[in-house]
Amino acid sequence: MMKHKREISISNQQLRTITQNFRIVWHEAVWAQVDALKAVKRYIEANDLENAYRYSILYCPSCNSLKGDRIYNSRLNRWFCPKCWGLQREFYISMMEKKKRGQGLGDFNEELMSSFL
Ligand SMILES: [Zn+2]
Repeated sequence: MMKHKREISISNQQLRTITQNFRIVWHEAVWAQVDALKAVKRYIEANDLENAYRYSILYCPSCNSLKGDRIYNSRLNRWFCPKCWGLQREFYISMMEKKKRGQGLGDFNEELMSSFL
């Protein structure tokens, strides 16, 4: 099975605080720049910058959090916080239990969601 997971965890509290503050500054700078680009109708550049932000390690795409550690899902090319990763993993496991019982899974993407194991 292909490995989809890479975890970045910072145990030093001072370094955690620095990282946290950097994320907030970076977040503010990106969105100020996106707004500035849109104001002068440079929409493609604004969109590129938004996408770079959304795929960065600083942002959890599930809960929008700028805080905490990150786990990379190579299948989705996204970084998740450990809490959201855990919720996605639990959801996948619960869906597999439904499948074992012969219940329908709707539009659940088993292959995609298995990347949270
Ligand atoms: Zn999250």
